[in-house]
Amino acid sequence: MERIVSRRDLAFLLYEWLAVEGLTQRPRYAAHARETFEAALDTAEQIATDLFAPHARKSDLNEPHFDGDKVHLIPEIRQALDAFVGAGLMAAEQGEEFGGMQLPVAVAKALSAYFKGANVATASYALLTIGNANLLLAHGSPAQIDAFVRPQLEGRFFGTMCLSEPQAGSSLSDVATRAEFEQDSPLGPQYRLSGNKMWISAGEHELSENIVHLVLAKIPGPDGKPVPGTKGISLFAVSKYLVSVAGSGSGSRVAVGERNDIALAGLNHKMGYRGTTNCLLNFGEGRFSPGGRTGAIGYLVGQPGRGLAAMFHMMNEARIGVGLGAAMLGYTAYLHALDYARSRPQGRPIGSGGKDPAQPQVPIIQHADVKRMLLAQKAYAEGALALNLYCARLIDEERTAESEAERAEATLLLDILTPVAKSWPSQWCLEGNTLAIQVHGGYGYTRDYPVEQFYRDNRLNSIHEGTHGIQALDLLGRKVVMNDGAAFKLLGSRVDATIRRASQARHPDTQRWAAMLGDRVRRVARTTQRVWAAGDAAKTLANATPYLEAFGHVVLAWIWLEQSLAASAHYQRSEGDFYHGKWQACRYFFLYELPKVDSMLDLVESLDTTTLDMEDAWF
Ligand SMILES: Cc1cc2nc3c(=O)[nH]c(=O)nc-3n(C[C@H](O)[C@H](O)[C@H](O)COP(=O)(O)OP(=O)(O)OC[C@H]3O[C@@H](n4cnc5c(N)ncnc54)[C@H](O)[C@@H]3O)c2cc1C
Repeated sequence: MERIVSRRDLAFLLYEWLAVEGLTQRPRYAAHARETFEAALDTAEQIATDLFAPHARKSDLNEPHFDGDKVHLIPEIRQALDAFVGAGLMAAEQGEEFGGMQLPVAVAKALSAYFKGANVATASYALLTIGNANLLLAHGSPAQIDAFVRPQLEGRFFGTMCLSEPQAGSSLSDVATRAEFEQDSPLGPQYRLSGNKMWISAGEHELSENIVHLVLAKIPGPDGKPVPGTKGISLFAVSKYLVSVAGSGSGSRVAVGERNDIALAGLNHKMGYRGTTNCLLNFGEGRFSPGGRTGAIGYLVGQPGRGLAAMFHMMNEARIGVGLGAAMLGYTAYLHALDYARSRPQGRPIGSGGKDPAQPQVPIIQHADVKRMLLAQKAYAEGALALNLYCARLIDEERTAESEAERAEATLLLDILTPVAKSWPSQWCLEGNTLAIQVHGGYGYTRDYPVEQFYRDNRLNSIHEGTHGIQALDLLGRKVVMNDGAAFKLLGSRVDATIRRASQARHPDTQRWAAMLGDRVRRVARTTQRVWAAGDAAKTLANATPYLEAFGHVVLAWIWLEQSLAASAHYQRSEGDFYHGKWQACRYFFLYELPKVDSMLDLVESLDTTTLDMEDAWF
């Protein structure tokens, strides 16, 4: 039995719902066909199964340790990443000019799904590197691309993102790392950086020849003080070892030189995701003296003061990546729970005369309550994966749609869906993880079964890349109102189009679901309008989190209605079980989950001030 993700489900989502084969009509993907997508999926499945999944537990039990000089990791991490690099997966979505496979993003994310589901901690080293390279491709100079991106896509260098500091987590305007201009250089304006970066994933290790840190820092103003607020933030590429580049473009050769002034102050010891090193990095503390001076050498990426905007390129990608990781931890846990429920005999069915002790015990999957827990997990995990692949498909639209208008629409939809794609799986697939533990009973609470680790790994996802609360403020405070509500209206029109199709369907359940979703969509629109009409941002945003959660459930109901329509369109009797499963999960979502929205929206719409009114001393 598959334990990472259902390949049949991936095929359904990619081909029967998202129609990715149609992308091969576009010039960028013309060299591809379903066969090449399937070959890439085969490779990912094999490497994930053979080399990533087997050490997930071992790297949890043997977390990285720092001997004061080097960080030590179990060797399986490197072997798995070597295979990932060797298969060309670091450049799966890059163009041929970078030696890439030029796969559609939707397919590339389906490949990532395998690695995240198999071993999210080991996968992080590679996926952070891909995100880092993508940012530099969008905002770096050609020389920076040669120096840092090409070696990353070849798997020689790995990458990180360095935003957080001990005093600047959610509030990045308080970043205190300083960058002082030194001189112009072939890699752009060269600065010396000093400051502390906290929580940096993959910040130090010996897995690659070099590590490229993308660092947010402030250039002092004319008064010598950092410019306050986010406008003062710039972005720098700061590598562990300095590099020199000979030649340019695809013929360039990058050599690694002197050690830069970046020191590992210590590793954080985490609840989950333990195989990924998590570091406090000191930049410019004087441990090393590149060029004979203290201070970490960094090269300005993009314009001064535009660092946060550039970093959002990586953050938005990482947010969808976090959502996909949460979805996959929910997915693999669901498959493990399903397997367990089919093989664990316990109890007897309730018949007309009650339970009959003379009968043998039945597998627990036959109990309605266990089926409820499995259905919930299926609805959360498959729904979350579908939403994240939908977002990946939007990135393909953004990059390759024929008209400017279609590309702009994809960007708007991504803007509004990103907080949901990040936070909904982080919340509900974690809930799925608790249900997976519950299905295992007492065994689920032991370390003999992997479900407790999935829970611990997944607990991170509502914290990093913008906490749950920060995503809520982003959605209600910015995304639904920006450009006069343009993204909100566009999303509404897409959902309405699905509702129209569903209300014309033959099956009465589908028509009923269409009506249920229509009610909630109107309700969200009314609530949004009313809370902003109050003219008091503090009151409006006090209940941003219930708003995010209600909004997320409405989006997921839409995604489930879409899936049920695709399932009925492609229904084949020979594969009836698969399609019945989709249908039943959709039914579960509409009857058990969607109604939860009403009480949340009642609260939000009432502009209740319980949380605002609560005083510190009253706790
Ligand atoms: C394992 C791990 C890996 C990480 N990897 C990286 C990485 O690679 N690179 C990187 O730069 N960072 C990384 N981070 C940092 C992560 O992004 C931050 O932890 C996160 O942004 C929250 O910041 P904080 O921990 O300082 O919490 P705080 O910002 O102090 O937040 C604490 C609580 O207060 C709430 N809160 C804060 N401000 C507000 C507000 N204005 N309104 C309402 N509620 C608020 C938050 O929602 C949260 O619940 C990682 C963190 C962890 C734990």
